[in-house]
Amino acid sequence: MNANYLQTPITYLKGVGPNRAETLQGELGIHTYQDLLNLFPNRYLDKTKYYKVAELQRNSSEVQLIGKIVNIKTIEQKKGKRLVATFLDDTGKMELVWFRGQKWIRENLKLNIPYVIFGKCNWYNGVFSMPHPEMELLEDHKKGLKVFMQPIYPSTEKLSNRGITNRVVSKLIQQLFIETKAEFSETLSDALLHELRLMNKSDALLNIHFPKSQELLAKAQFRLKFEELFYIQMQLLIKKMLHKQKIKGFNFDQVGELFNEFYEEHLPFELTGAQKRVIKEIRSDLGSNAQMNRLLQGDVGSGKTIVAVMTMLLAIDNGYQACLMAPTEILANQHYNGIKELLDKVGVSCALLTGSVKKGARKIIHEQLENGELHILIGTHALLEDKVQYKNLGLAIVDEQHRFGVAQRSKLWHKNEYPPHILVMTATPIPRTLAMSLYGDLDISVIDELPPGRKPIKTVHRFDSNRLKVFGFIKDEIKKGRQIYVVYPLIQESEALDYKDLMDGYESIARDFPLPDYQISIVHGKMKPADKDYEMERFVRGETQIMVATTVIEVGVNVPNASVMIIESAERFGLSQLHQLRGRVGRGADQSFCILMTSHKLSAEAKTRLETMVRTNDGFEIAEVDLRLRGPGDIMGTQQSGVLNLKIADIVKDNDILKTARYHAIQLLKQDPGIEKPENMVVRYAYSQLVKYKNIWNYIS
Ligand code: ADP
Ligand code: MG
Repeated sequence: MNANYLQTPITYLKGVGPNRAETLQGELGIHTYQDLLNLFPNRYLDKTKYYKVAELQRNSSEVQLIGKIVNIKTIEQKKGKRLVATFLDDTGKMELVWFRGQKWIRENLKLNIPYVIFGKCNWYNGVFSMPHPEMELLEDHKKGLKVFMQPIYPSTEKLSNRGITNRVVSKLIQQLFIETKAEFSETLSDALLHELRLMNKSDALLNIHFPKSQELLAKAQFRLKFEELFYIQMQLLIKKMLHKQKIKGFNFDQVGELFNEFYEEHLPFELTGAQKRVIKEIRSDLGSNAQMNRLLQGDVGSGKTIVAVMTMLLAIDNGYQACLMAPTEILANQHYNGIKELLDKVGVSCALLTGSVKKGARKIIHEQLENGELHILIGTHALLEDKVQYKNLGLAIVDEQHRFGVAQRSKLWHKNEYPPHILVMTATPIPRTLAMSLYGDLDISVIDELPPGRKPIKTVHRFDSNRLKVFGFIKDEIKKGRQIYVVYPLIQESEALDYKDLMDGYESIARDFPLPDYQISIVHGKMKPADKDYEMERFVRGETQIMVATTVIEVGVNVPNASVMIIESAERFGLSQLHQLRGRVGRGADQSFCILMTSHKLSAEAKTRLETMVRTNDGFEIAEVDLRLRGPGDIMGTQQSGVLNLKIADIVKDNDILKTARYHAIQLLKQDPGIEKPENMVVRYAYSQLVKYKNIWNYIS
């Protein structure tokens, strides 16, 4: 059956009228035969096993049993009538219960004759009961066509309200198989089918909807998951190839005076091996005539800033301007101060543009940008305003891209006639699994080595009841000259409550750490930016020993003398946030500590998060745990939750299949970049169909 036939609108399928078609479209996005065929079951009910009553567990799922009904009675209650039957096998008895259709059941149910029943079991008042069981006489069951694994399809309330039950969906799919004669064209090459011993397409579709056995189901699932991930990888890789060919970039072929002078005379420290490697990767991008589109991942404190600085010098050496965009004003300030200090040494001009820059100063910046006097602009979202026009922007660096939408990223692109090279820096390690599927079209550099001499941060979990001991510890650290962060959660929905927590906490700390021996800074979202900055500055300069804050300090703030991070209500933070916060300490030569404070009431997931934090400092390991706990949608945010639209594969669980798929996609494109060889025609055709009918999930613009 050819693929075009599968584009037939779903209304043409027998059993689907205009009403059902509308519901299927609205609820499940099913417009065509193809869409219905690709509606894969979420799970299967195992009808291969027959349970005994004595084997039933209190929270078992659906089960199948053989036995007889020995009596039946109606029970009247305030809430209404129900019909209750006693069901017996040779190991015990249970109840079957009906709330609806009681008359029909009463008239048709046969006593003392073996039935096969199937349904979900409840444990209630000391007996197992099964509401509304599926029932079939054992005799008929033996004769009938056996369904071993009953598929359960995705459903919604509207679907079931409008009578499109699981049974109906299953029937429609059966009808589709009848109309198409269950012949579906192959979408993978012989070579792939052979090498990976994959089930062919028709068999896979048949077995995913009507599995004959566990084993065949597993083979069908593997084949279809592989196919899905393979074509996503193909799309990402092809996009990357096209990007390299098509999107010309400024050619920075000079490694000039500024870069060399800085490298030889002004580097404040020896670069780590990882930093050197990453700079090399970036340099080779910049000199390749194609636009760079690179993601730089490096754990907090791994030293991304210096990489940014050296990359900007490359741009200036080649006669271009550069900009660096940070997610918050505090961060932009900090970047500006740090970077300006470095760049002054080589005479490069640099300005800061944020929301709080005054009109007059702003105007000067705009002018100097346009006439090229200004080499580097550092700032916040303010950089994206239309008034900001560069003479020749050659490089845009985005720090902590998680805070920026994709749209904003592309806005930078269109600032100039040619797109600038783009370097996105992030300290939130993206799990390898996700990076591969989401950013397969970006180049990725990783700084996987911390600057020398850092001592791993010691992390402990303490209950609130031990607060006095913790305070004692803080006093000791302050005596040694160290500074302390105390962070409170801030969650939008309950801002008022969070604020109260913060203020209560602040008061109790102020009591235990009285003036004049102790100076405390406080920073929270309700303060004016100027006040925030003032408090931040006092802490940065070492005038205050304790910084009480909400999560505003999460990203990027650098105070090397701060050695203790106390996180209050740590159970309320996500893993990546905890890791980010912890990264605020451990920046100096001293031993640093992270103390996770919680109450005794902890969910299982919260426990896992805390244990993970205590066990490891490795951002990638933490990111993998986070991904397992939360799933990809939550991690990447809604914008990129397209990854959830996978029809059958699971980014987390099917990691191995993903790797295999990626490997084979890379091999195929290496050997046949234009997908032109006769043996790959099948892949070419399948790919073009997927693109044409937009069946490949479309992730980043
Ligand atoms: P992040 O990757 O979190 O942005 P930074 O660039 O802020 O990290 O660097 C963290 C700290 O480490 C800074 O104080 C920086 O000066 C220092 N640093 C960076 N690279 C090195 C290095 N190779 N050797 C020693 N210190 C370094
Ligand atoms: Mg940084």
